[in-house]
Amino acid sequence: MNWEVVIGLEAHVQLSTASKIFSGSPTLFGSAPNTQANAVDMALPGSLPVLNRGAVERAIQFGLAIGADVSPRSIFARKNYFYPDLPKNYQISQFEIPVVLGGSLSFSVDGQPTTINLTRAHLEEDAGKSLHDNFPGPHGEASTGIDLNRSGTPLLEIVSEPEMRSAAQAVAYARALHNLVVWLGICDGNMQEGSFRIDANVSVRPLGQKEFGTRTETKNVNSFRFLERAILFEVQRQIEVIEDGGKVIQETRLYDSDRDETRSMRSKEDAHDYRYFPDPDLPPLIISPEWVAEVQANMPELPQQLSERFAQTYGLTEVDTLQICHNRETAAYFEVVVSKLPTNQGKLAANWLNGEVLAALNRDNLDIDVCPVKAEQLAALLNRIVDNTLSNKIAREVFAAMWVGESGGEPDSIIEAKGLKQINDSGAIDTMVDGVLAAHPAIVEEYRAGKQKAFNSLVGQVMKVAQGKANPQQVNEALKRRLDC
Ligand code: ADP
Ligand code: MG
Repeated sequence: MNWEVVIGLEAHVQLSTASKIFSGSPTLFGSAPNTQANAVDMALPGSLPVLNRGAVERAIQFGLAIGADVSPRSIFARKNYFYPDLPKNYQISQFEIPVVLGGSLSFSVDGQPTTINLTRAHLEEDAGKSLHDNFPGPHGEASTGIDLNRSGTPLLEIVSEPEMRSAAQAVAYARALHNLVVWLGICDGNMQEGSFRIDANVSVRPLGQKEFGTRTETKNVNSFRFLERAILFEVQRQIEVIEDGGKVIQETRLYDSDRDETRSMRSKEDAHDYRYFPDPDLPPLIISPEWVAEVQANMPELPQQLSERFAQTYGLTEVDTLQICHNRETAAYFEVVVSKLPTNQGKLAANWLNGEVLAALNRDNLDIDVCPVKAEQLAALLNRIVDNTLSNKIAREVFAAMWVGESGGEPDSIIEAKGLKQINDSGAIDTMVDGVLAAHPAIVEEYRAGKQKAFNSLVGQVMKVAQGKANPQQVNEALKRRLDC
């Protein structure tokens, strides 16, 4: 039987506010347990939540970026459940009317343009954390500690429609979403610290069947690789269950990366299990058109728009712009480089940035904002290719020297110090060509007998004499001129 995979993702995106969503406590990561929890976060009787304006602004930014509707009036609700690290016994979230409705995200999967619709995005607070490991109680007995530092951290939960049909598509969607929230600056994107977590809803159905199969939800996956592994495992597991005559149970699962498998955590609650009701402590969230316009005015150019602008202005392909617009820092670097080159040299800049520069950054495990070769310096190097001082090959040699900071990383000083200037003097090149032809009569004979390979061999000989510095195009022309007469 052929099976079709159906995936919908929920992302919990930690918003980059300095303080919590309903209290003034800081949101810093890694502080000593319970040093960042005040009366509101601890749910002391009589404490009241006050909504953080910055969290709302970030939600509006996200809504605008994905072309969604920003609700003029949305409601905070209590989602009731018991958990030791949730002292209120409810989480403040949004249920019936979320702050962001609809919208879509476009990205490409293996060069294939794809658009996935979003259902909604809503604001909510995070819970605290239970620490089960290595936490001896007062008499040395095993016990569990509660850390409420994370309690009340602002989250935007972003829910997609069940429109993805493969693990690769789901990973591409998650990456595009991650790029976007980091690009907007509404999330620091740090997945190890839990700032961006994915729940993967997965089901399978016989190819051609209209109704969806029963889904499972694998919670809190915190890396793209694990997301792919978790989905692949879950798809295989569900297919086997059904093919063995069983039924997939709707449940919450977790992914264990050590064993590369998903395991059942608990049977899945339905919305009515949570007894949602509007939180009487919080008034409806009113977002005026003026507020939306103000946020819109301060939005950065989006990756999609920037890609299109770069493609048009510089004649770049989608593969080029995708790399360049991967993050704001790379795009900014590219803009500085092209601003210092002749207008028709955007492709040269893109090739070098996506080739040499990214390879060196990856090799040394560096981010572009600490790139040893500054954008201005790369532009200076590329201008030496444009004006024929350097061949591409020698330019790579200069680049390697710039990378390790030789001569202050300035290409002109390096070219001077190493004597790497390309030989463009046609008289000098003719002399070298004549010398090579005289020294290799046998190869010349082969060429005259029609062997094209012999020509390349002669080019190689001239370049050897020139120590790689002769202008390759001129060498070709000079050889042709001499041989074909
Ligand atoms: P819940 O809180 O119960 O997880 P949500 O509405 O927040 O419900 O999220 C449901 C998620 O599951 C959405 O991303 C949706 O696209 C996805 N989904 C719903 N039905 C299926 C299905 N049959 N197969 C795969 N994904 C599904
Ligand atoms: Mg869910």
